[in-house]
Amino acid sequence: MKGNATVIGLGAFGSTVSLELTRLGIEVLGIDTNPSRVSALADHLDRTVIADARDERVLRELGVHESDVVVVAIGEDIEANILATLVVKNMGATQVWAKALNANHYKILEKLGADHIVNPEHEMGLRVARTLTYPHVLDYINLGDDQFISEVRASECLHGKTIEALHLVENDIQCLVIRSRGMVMAPPPPSHHFELGDQIVLLGTLSRLRRVSKYL
Ligand code: ADP
Repeated sequence: MKGNATVIGLGAFGSTVSLELTRLGIEVLGIDTNPSRVSALADHLDRTVIADARDERVLRELGVHESDVVVVAIGEDIEANILATLVVKNMGATQVWAKALNANHYKILEKLGADHIVNPEHEMGLRVARTLTYPHVLDYINLGDDQFISEVRASECLHGKTIEALHLVENDIQCLVIRSRGMVMAPPPPSHHFELGDQIVLLGTLSRLRRVSKYL
């Protein structure tokens, strides 16, 4: 995505989203009712405004409906979160991301037509649990149907060994990429000898990935 975004609510979640979007070259308008939240980000975002996102007139004056993306990142105040989502959807914003606090809230945001709904606490909880039970994991992508792409790091015991030492074939796991000393190898050559810290990207089911992790 290129262009501009509006982030409504500049708490822990909203400020992280807005700062990262800015870092990625997107012009961000940050809105919050709390002046101290706004002033904390005033020097870092393209535009920051103290405003109540429940007020459609104010959002129109700010041009929020013309944003490529609107992120409703209001936290605790569910009512304000729901009203802000309703207002931005009514204004015709095409890409609305909204933060849900719980399952019922999620259902309401879905009904209101939010295009993407995120539940950071829930998603982070899953991520932490899965990472904890799968050692060496750096990051992963859940593809659905229990298929995961997982990035792991080679430990000491893999040092000097080749990909064969991971027993991938018998575990029905594919190795997509190896990154070693800054060099990306895709597909990875069978002759590569692992070094401590090599990044290895694997594809397979969670239980099979766990099985393979004992060879890392
Ligand atoms: P987080 O979990 O992201 O820290 P918070 O509830 O702490 O969530 O932060 C949400 C932010 O949304 C707060 O800074 C709050 O002032 C802001 N906020 C709440 N209601 C509105 C509203 N109606 N319009 C704009 N911003 C709002």
